[in-house]
Amino acid sequence: MGIEISSLTVHGALDALSGGECSSEELVRDVVAEIAKRDAEVGAYVSVDEELALEQARAADAARSAGKCGRLLGVPIAIKDVLNVEGQSCTCGSKILEGYTSPYDATAIAKLRAEGAVFLGRANMDEFAMGSTTQNSAYKVTHNPWNLDCVPGGSSGGSAAAVAAGEAIAALGTDTGGSIRQPASFCGCVGLKPSYGRISRYGLVAFASSLDQIGPITKNVRDAALLCEVMSGVDKMDSSSMDEPIPQLAVDLPADLKGVTLGLPKEYFVDGMDDDVRRGVMAAVEKCRELGAEIKEVSLPHTKYAVSTYYIIATAEASANLARFDGVRYGKRAEGATDPIDMYGKTRAEGFGAEVKRRIILGTYVLSSGYYDAYYLSAQKVRTLIRQDFEKVFEDCDALLAPVTPSPAYRIGENLDDPLQMYLGDICTVTANLAGICGLSVPCAMTESGLPVGLQILGPAFKEENILKVGHAYEQARGDMPLPEILKR
Ligand code: GLN
Repeated sequence: MGIEISSLTVHGALDALSGGECSSEELVRDVVAEIAKRDAEVGAYVSVDEELALEQARAADAARSAGKCGRLLGVPIAIKDVLNVEGQSCTCGSKILEGYTSPYDATAIAKLRAEGAVFLGRANMDEFAMGSTTQNSAYKVTHNPWNLDCVPGGSSGGSAAAVAAGEAIAALGTDTGGSIRQPASFCGCVGLKPSYGRISRYGLVAFASSLDQIGPITKNVRDAALLCEVMSGVDKMDSSSMDEPIPQLAVDLPADLKGVTLGLPKEYFVDGMDDDVRRGVMAAVEKCRELGAEIKEVSLPHTKYAVSTYYIIATAEASANLARFDGVRYGKRAEGATDPIDMYGKTRAEGFGAEVKRRIILGTYVLSSGYYDAYYLSAQKVRTLIRQDFEKVFEDCDALLAPVTPSPAYRIGENLDDPLQMYLGDICTVTANLAGICGLSVPCAMTESGLPVGLQILGPAFKEENILKVGHAYEQARGDMPLPEILKR
């Protein structure tokens, strides 16, 4: 096939398929060949379901010959291992879900399936989406395709690494506190966290239900817009999904930013931030100014409380959500227990990894009587203040520009024994989840050592079109980014 798979976008694949340049079956075979070539080194997938993917691809080809054309007909994508796809495993990166097979499709998956998308396999992740490096997976370490000694970010590290390494045309991730935007930034991909309630969470294994959102990781902004549009919409299976109109996100993306006001939140340019990141983001800000945007400095004064607020609310919700993994209904059950209580304890002790246990303990503590008011209730109040900070600045800004992370990807093993240091790296991303707003990460620069840097674009709730327009105009003006060396092998 004469198509360059490693840099093929969703829109490129759709053009090739509809122009008869290739079939979906050929496309899937080619992507599987890329996986075979590189995944031993990258480790993006927990499992690849070649037979199932080929079956879907053949069905897509037959549908196309019959004159049907779904919006994603025949396009192979990778799915983070936390989203239920009927008949496939769903480990959430945890030993406790070993052997579990999904009995149904998540709503987002059903919507993609209805448009003809093909599901390639299960992308690696931090256990139950808790982490920023994908090193908390119980299955394998995922390596950053730009430098195999570095982490790909997390928790959707497998999804981002798969896209960057040409092992998927696009992928799905989830973002509770940055898990789409941060790995996208570390791996040089585009990552979109939609507004809370935009995409149904039904069939997404819950980490922190008031923060979790599903979203795409892609090679360009237009692809992210299309996937978001397809997955959006109210769902009776998720009472937090919102009945908001779904704009046509992938069309009408402008080439300039005339008439657009962009805020620069000063609290996001933190002390100790990496120089390459600061330079890269500021150059992108200048580019947006050249495109016609008005840039103004703004303040989100409660940002300094965001990390502590997030780690109280997220762990509290996790401690309740993860109570269901007790050896009775899902996955693993410990051997040799003497009674049910012993069985619950043994299953959870054997099945969960250290970070998950740490968070269940923390979450149980902040919810316990005597501490509830001091921690959980206070965190909820601060959360409101953080949301109000955004509402205020969005009164006169269409979107905000900021870094995604204070540093580029770091080395595998670094900070692993210092969870607090790791949590502090989430400073620029957790705020969007606490406020329920949308955020986009777009590659904007390379560091001196050859690692990608992301620009974060934040927009008001249910204004995905604002951030996608800014992202697209910027991306066009920026031009092509380099590709990782690993793709040339
Ligand atoms: N790094 C954050 C955490 O560890 C975010 C995770 C996520 O968004 N799932 O909780």
